[in-house]
Amino acid sequence: MRWRRRRRQGWLAGLVLGGGLVAAAYELPYVNWQPVVPPVDAHPLIVRMDAKGDGRFWSPRSGNRRHRGVDLAAPLNSPVRAIRSGTVAETGTHRGLGRFVELEHRGGLRSLYAHLARVQVEPGARVRQGDVIGLVGKTGNARHRWITPHVHLEVWRGGEPVDPAALGLEVTPPRGGGDGEQGRARGGPPPARGTEPDAIERDALRGG
Ligand SMILES: [Zn+2]
Repeated sequence: MRWRRRRRQGWLAGLVLGGGLVAAAYELPYVNWQPVVPPVDAHPLIVRMDAKGDGRFWSPRSGNRRHRGVDLAAPLNSPVRAIRSGTVAETGTHRGLGRFVELEHRGGLRSLYAHLARVQVEPGARVRQGDVIGLVGKTGNARHRWITPHVHLEVWRGGEPVDPAALGLEVTPPRGGGDGEQGRARGGPPPARGTEPDAIERDALRGG
């Protein structure tokens, strides 16, 4: 009797171990080997600064709003990549954001990629860190001809916007900028505030 039970326990332990190994093998591609990978293939990652706006995180927008993402310059139709592994929470077309992809990651983290030319993933799909999820475009309020092509990247944790740099994304301040309000005074026309109402559009998208 005891012998039988022991044998059954061994069989169960083997099943659990085997199942664990299968699960681990299945999950291996989704391991984040880095805290974040760049969402575009540009080196370095240049923050957009053009006649129509300042692409830095938390730069002012109209109505005392703030830019809740970072705008990363990249050539039109170049790949847009998942900064971390996750699941496609939502894709769509929005007046301000244009074509966008939103990913849900572990740990209450979300990332959103906007103004895409094309979305290349379906809602519910799992993506690996670095997978191509779309192509850089000028959709939504980035379609203005004075706005240089870029990806608008937002990162959210627990319902709060997070500076992607705080996650370890290394970005280069915009050319002619980089030191706050003073940078704005140097060279080129001052960026008109409120011309890219991402934050407002985002509120509309979220319904609050
Ligand atoms: Zn933006």
